[in-house]
Amino acid sequence: MGLSKTIWTNPTEYLRNQHPENPVLFFAPQAVQAVARKFLQGFPGLVTYAVKSNPGEEVIENLIAAGIKGFDCASPFEIDLIRRLAPDAAIHYHNPVRSRAEIAHAVKREVKSWSVDSHSELAKLIEMVPVEGCEISVRFKLPVGGAAYNFGAKFGATAEDAVDLLKTVAAAGYIPSLTFHPGTQCTDPAAWASYIREAAVIAANAGVKIKRLNVGGGFPNHRVEGVLPQLTDTFMTIGDVAKEAFGADVPALVCEPGRALCGDAFTLASKVKAVRDDSHVFLNDGLYGSLFELGQIGIIDRIEVISDEGTKREGETLPRICFGPTCDSVDRLPGDVPFPSDIAEGDYVIWHGMGAYSTVTNSRFNGFGELGLVTVLNQAV
Ligand SMILES: *Cc1c(COP(=O)(O)O)cnc(C)c1O
Repeated sequence: MGLSKTIWTNPTEYLRNQHPENPVLFFAPQAVQAVARKFLQGFPGLVTYAVKSNPGEEVIENLIAAGIKGFDCASPFEIDLIRRLAPDAAIHYHNPVRSRAEIAHAVKREVKSWSVDSHSELAKLIEMVPVEGCEISVRFKLPVGGAAYNFGAKFGATAEDAVDLLKTVAAAGYIPSLTFHPGTQCTDPAAWASYIREAAVIAANAGVKIKRLNVGGGFPNHRVEGVLPQLTDTFMTIGDVAKEAFGADVPALVCEPGRALCGDAFTLASKVKAVRDDSHVFLNDGLYGSLFELGQIGIIDRIEVISDEGTKREGETLPRICFGPTCDSVDRLPGDVPFPSDIAEGDYVIWHGMGAYSTVTNSRFNGFGELGLVTVLNQAV
């Protein structure tokens, strides 16, 4: 997937001129820069980008241009990518389980911030990571809701374990910090408040003054028509609750958004291959392609449909069953998808807010999955 050289005005202009057979993602550099500036101005601490959500170089370069100076990486590949594109950036290696070869690679690449959620993984770090100037953040979890799915199911120590881990980190001479992730697409600011209060309790019980508190990613992106994410409220809650919970010992704050930074950077156009018997819509993209995440966290209903000539379909909304192009029956979007009633073969379905967990989880299963990537000035249809 290479970025096209031509810059088009908007998706419609491209579609009615080029009539692409493969799905196309439209990249708007202004969109990613605007949201980066919103985070930099509003978040009361360091903003780092979770590379996994979209590691496209065009995304990372525009984040750097907007002023992002830190990156959350989960693998040697991501670490090397950031070292190449932003040699001086801070890299936080926040995948709490790593092989020894991965640890050695990151040490060689001068990674100075690590996260951990278990005694056995901490023992590996103590054995292999030089103490000098290195920070280890203990990742903990809480049974709180508010997110699209719960990250605590895989990672995060219990509060009790976190106390012991934090003591061990400090005793070994590393800079002690705490971190959590409230779960992706978290629309409830109260989730951050609960975690921050618990962090203060963990630090107090460990008798350790933490240097930084990383409040994770999970900041929501605009997925549902009419429900705009309240980023500014969340930033204020985070700053206020940290001051209140830690008092004089308030740590520096860090966040690591993925989805919220890149979600609106891309709009997807998928083509209608068939409308079968007026009930099933078959697209050229689906759960094995760039719509993979819809199977996990539900439909994005910011959908518009245009004809091959670029005219907007205005029929009343009629939910349909929607299939992807592969021969696997799993390749069906969840629930019913709200398409206009006059959707027809050859039309393009435009999905807004498709920058996160889309290009990067796209597969070539069944010979599909070739994506076009086109730069546009704006994403309005
Ligand atoms: C995935 C991940 C993120 C980014 O999550 P979003 O929901 O995309 O903001 C941040 N931090 C860690 C440790 C992650 O695993």
